[in-house]
Amino acid sequence: MDLRNGFDISRYIRNIPDYPKPGIMFRDITTLLSNQHAFRAAVDELAWPFLHGQFDYVAGIEARGFILGGAVAHTLGRGFIPIRKKGKLPARTIGQEYTLEYGVDTIEIHADAINKGDKILLIDDLIATGGTAGAAIDLIHKTGGEVISAAFVIDLPDLGGADKLRAKGVKVHTLVGYGGH
Ligand code: AMP
Repeated sequence: MDLRNGFDISRYIRNIPDYPKPGIMFRDITTLLSNQHAFRAAVDELAWPFLHGQFDYVAGIEARGFILGGAVAHTLGRGFIPIRKKGKLPARTIGQEYTLEYGVDTIEIHADAINKGDKILLIDDLIATGGTAGAAIDLIHKTGGEVISAAFVIDLPDLGGADKLRAKGVKVHTLVGYGGH
């Protein structure tokens, strides 16, 4: 994909076939994160639509959303709010269950992290079915916050996640798209 500054981020994403199970093509961003130019380009490209955006916090989803979200928050001069797997946050939390292929999982946020009416930019590395990001949006809504946009390095559009988020009224910004899953 040709990006705004001509830097091809997709060259730095490593494809691992059959991980974590047969038939899945894992999009590994550790090779992007470890390259100084690719990491900066990815963070800049994630952030630039929001340079003049009206929002209060960046929220990131554990774990790769912390690396990218923290850097985006720093770039945009906002605070960062972690959304974590169940049982990891120390103070009082609010949780949101979501369905995985097999079974359910829960993500949590500190109950006092967001005030009613706060506007949030949500960050993760990849959107596939939208189950994880959709649950994060529902969780933020429970706290009284509003998700203005969600941004991801990678979109797997055939899995419909970005459309699911748009149906919730959330704008979606992605850098690299891959067909299939
Ligand atoms: P989903 O909830 O289906 O949108 O999946 C998104 C979450 O699962 C993200 O946190 C991704 O890090 C991870 N994920 C899903 N599919 C892949 C994939 N093909 N390669 C790498 N990570 C993935």
